[in-house]
Amino acid sequence: MRETSKPVVEKVAIIGAGPGGLATAIALRKQGIDAHVYEKAREFCPVGAGLGLQPNGLRCLDAIKPGIVDTLKRSGCQVERVTVKTSAGETIRTNESTMMEKYGHPLLIIWWWRLQQILASELPSEVIHLNHRCIGFEQNENNVVTHFDNGKTAQADLLIGADGVNSAVRQTLIGDGQPRYVGSMSWRAVLERKYQLLPPDEVILMKGEKSIVYLLNVGEGNISWLARKLLPDSSLSSTAAEAKSRVLQEFANWMEPVRELIAQTVPERILEGPICDRLPLKQWSYGRVTLLGDAAHPMTPAAGQGANTTFEDAYELAECLRNCPDLQTALANYDNRRIQRTAIIQSRSAEGEKRYYQPTQQTNQQSQQNFDEFRHWVYDYDPKSESRLKPWKKTLTV
Ligand SMILES: Cc1cc2nc3c(=O)[nH]c(=O)nc-3n(C[C@H](O)[C@H](O)[C@H](O)COP(=O)(O)OP(=O)(O)OC[C@H]3O[C@@H](n4cnc5c(N)ncnc54)[C@H](O)[C@@H]3O)c2cc1C
Repeated sequence: MRETSKPVVEKVAIIGAGPGGLATAIALRKQGIDAHVYEKAREFCPVGAGLGLQPNGLRCLDAIKPGIVDTLKRSGCQVERVTVKTSAGETIRTNESTMMEKYGHPLLIIWWWRLQQILASELPSEVIHLNHRCIGFEQNENNVVTHFDNGKTAQADLLIGADGVNSAVRQTLIGDGQPRYVGSMSWRAVLERKYQLLPPDEVILMKGEKSIVYLLNVGEGNISWLARKLLPDSSLSSTAAEAKSRVLQEFANWMEPVRELIAQTVPERILEGPICDRLPLKQWSYGRVTLLGDAAHPMTPAAGQGANTTFEDAYELAECLRNCPDLQTALANYDNRRIQRTAIIQSRSAEGEKRYYQPTQQTNQQSQQNFDEFRHWVYDYDPKSESRLKPWKKTLTV
């Protein structure tokens, strides 16, 4: 424990104004730290698709900024049930969500862009620097200087790379190259809900031949579709129109509402991308630089934990900076608290990704129990409880 109230860092540069970078900036500024966020985008615009926030992520957000979860709930959609269908629209099964009664928070679907807006609105506008693409940094024992493609630099006591799966900070810090393509492509978008395709509190997962589609209400009258397909070719289309015709072609045999939703989507709103992850790292922090969120532990979306574990990172990093006597100890503690947990979730997400495309089948009692225990360990993470730091019973060597 630190004896003085002086923070171990005064100025922090955070790269990336995604959920991770913004949540971390809110947490650090609450402690009086002068945290600034540098984002490559020229402006915030309506991008991304529907995202599922779960009890562990919501609890951490609430601890960072009490009341913010209520704002997110008003903007998003609280899920009561998940229905699994075939690509022809026949119902395979419906599962009622028990998250609220078991964990005190629902599965909350929200548009990535609205999440970004709500988080950004908690920060003074002058600490978010748009049009700043990080291209590298150098550090010494006194400070770290970040370089941007607009020729500017930023000097800070600590640099946090929250710049996503293709992180430039990670590339300079670790240099482990491109992320790993796991074999499926994804297309996703949000559009205005023109008619009642699914009840507001329901998620639909449709399974086809080596492909899946999610239909999600993201709140405020918008619907999101996420289409994924196993494909050996991870190359991107050269134009938005080409991406749209590619996804229409890949899902040509699907039932009408799916094809119609894709057809109605403005091409520029369709986000095309390969599903990628990386193998877990043994260390995230070196000197005055650390990683957070997808930059640190990119995972496939199978467990829906990318953003949720990112909020855990934001909470824990801020706590370590608040409670440790010096920066080195704070970052060592942060690595200790986060690496093993996220490595396990990364590895389980990679396994889940493979199962996604298998035909729906009965799981045996043992594997169902194992799955339920894992989910409980993930969702039960509570910043107010010391027991959150206990490891998953099956330890993983990273
Ligand atoms: C198909 C799909 C579905 C998903 N569903 C879920 C879900 O249901 N639940 C869930 O929890 N997670 C989900 N995820 C994962 C989730 O989107 C990510 O884990 C989350 O967005 C990570 O947040 P982040 O802030 O670390 O990174 P990002 O959201 O990637 O944000 C990074 C930010 O950094 C900026 N940036 C990048 N490079 C630079 C640079 N060089 N300089 C400056 N700025 C830079 C980017 O523009 C961006 O704003 C899903 C992912 C996919 C692909």
